[in-house]
Amino acid sequence: MSRHTKIVATLGPASSDPAVLERLVEAGIDVVRLNFSHGSAADHMARAVTVREVAARAGRCVGILADLQGPKIRVGKFEEGKITLEKGAEFILDAGCTLGNAERVGLDYEDLPRDVQPGDILLLDDGRLKLQVEKVKGTEIHTRVRVGGVLSNNKGINRQGGGLTAPALTAKDMEDIKTAAALEVDFVAVSFPKSAADMYMARQLLRAAGSHARLIAKIERTEAITHLEEILEASDGIMVARGDLAVEVGDAAVPALQKKMIRAARDKNKFTITATQMMESMIHSPVPTRAEVSDVANAVLDGTDAVMLSAETASGAYPVETVESMARVCLEAERSAEVTLDRDMLDRVFTRIDQSIAMAAIWTAHHLKVKAIAALTQSGSTALWMSRLNCGVPIYALTPDPKAMGTMVIYREVYPLLMSQQHMDRDMLLQEAEELLIAKGVVEKGDLIVLTIGEPIGCVGGTNTLKIVRVGEHQVG
Ligand code: PGA
Ligand code: MN
Repeated sequence: MSRHTKIVATLGPASSDPAVLERLVEAGIDVVRLNFSHGSAADHMARAVTVREVAARAGRCVGILADLQGPKIRVGKFEEGKITLEKGAEFILDAGCTLGNAERVGLDYEDLPRDVQPGDILLLDDGRLKLQVEKVKGTEIHTRVRVGGVLSNNKGINRQGGGLTAPALTAKDMEDIKTAAALEVDFVAVSFPKSAADMYMARQLLRAAGSHARLIAKIERTEAITHLEEILEASDGIMVARGDLAVEVGDAAVPALQKKMIRAARDKNKFTITATQMMESMIHSPVPTRAEVSDVANAVLDGTDAVMLSAETASGAYPVETVESMARVCLEAERSAEVTLDRDMLDRVFTRIDQSIAMAAIWTAHHLKVKAIAALTQSGSTALWMSRLNCGVPIYALTPDPKAMGTMVIYREVYPLLMSQQHMDRDMLLQEAEELLIAKGVVEKGDLIVLTIGEPIGCVGGTNTLKIVRVGEHQVG
C-alpha cells in the first residue's frame, strides 16, 4: 500500500550531500523545502540541482518548494553575541542602536516603535522571553522583563495578539522570488501574509518573473486567521505554520485552528501542509517521542495533504531516520482511518463539466471499489478536485507535462506519472495509460479502474469523459 500523506523535508547542512539526499528520497520525501531564511541563492541553486539529479536517478518525482523569509521582525546583534535578561529588569529595544548590550538592543524593523503601545506584550525567541512595553520614546521601546532568559543575536519578535504592520514581502523576498523563478521551483511559500492582497502581490511578482509555481500562504499571524477565507481564495495552498502562529495566538489555540484550516482549505479545493516541530526531538534522537507520533498521526487524521520537517532534516543528526519514522506513522494512521465520502461535498452543485466528472469518478470508484483511478490531466486540476474527497482509492494522475507532476505530488493520495507526448489518438492514449499502470505494478489484468479523459485530446480543462475499464480488455471504438 502506498502512503497517502506526503512528506516535505527542509534541506540544510545535514541534507545537502547527494548520498544523504539519495537516502532521503528512498525513505520517501515527496517535496523538498529550500528555506530562504538561511543560506545564499547559490546554496539553494546547488541543492535544487542535486535534488533533481537524485530524483531522476531514482525514477521518482520530487517537488521543490521555495520558502521566502518574509518580514520576521528580529532584534539586532549583541557585543558579546548574547545577554541574560533577569525578570523585573528594564530593557530597551532601540531601532537606532547598532550593537546591543545588557541595557538595549537594535531592531531590524525600524517602524516597530510606531506599532506598539504601553501594555503590549512582546514575545522573543519563539515566546521563550516575555517583555512588557512601558513607554515608547522616539526610536526606543522601553520594556520590563516579565519572563527572562538568554537572548542571543537575531532572535525573532512577535506581539501577543498580532497586529504588527510590516509588509509581507521584503526587498529580499522580491529578489528571492526571481531566484525561485530561475530555479523553476514548483511551489513558493509566502511568510507572514496578513491578507489576500499580500498573496496577489506575490503572485504578480512570480508571474512577472516567468514562474508558474503554486503559491502557498503560511498562516502564522493572527490577522491571517481573521482573513483565512480570502487568503485561501488568493492562494493554491496553505501551510499551518505552527511555530510563529503559536506565539501570536497562544499555543493552546493551535490544535483546533489546525483542524479548522485543513477543513476550510479542502472546502475551497486548496491543499495544506502541516508544519513545525512534528518530530522535533529527532534533531538529537534516533526515535520520536510518543507525543510526536500522535501529532503526526493526528495531522493525517485531520486530512492534511502533507506533513513537514524543518530542522529535523535541515540540521538534525538523524535526517533519514526522521523521514522513515514519519512515513511509518503516516501509513499506520491512514490504515486505521475509516473511509467515508464527505456528503456535503458530494451534494454540492458543480457548474464546471471537468469538476463534475471528477466528482462522478470519485463516487463511482468508491462504490465499485475499483483498484485505481486514472486521471489523464494536463494541468492537474482534475487530480486536485478528486483528492479533496477521501474515497479510499488511489488517484494516478497521468500527464505529459513534467511541471504538472511537480505540483501534483503534494496532493494527498495523488501519484503523478509521466505519459509520452506522442499519442493524439484516444485509443492509443488509453492503451498507454493501462500499460503504464501495469508497468508500475499498480494494477494487473482483470482489475477494474475508473478513468477520466478530455476529448478532444490535449486541451487544458477539457476533462469530459468518465470510463470504467477492466484492465486488459480495452475495446477499441
Ligand atoms: P518558519 O515557518 O519555519 O519559516 O518559521 C513555519 C512556522 O512558523 O511554523
Ligand atoms: Mn514561521
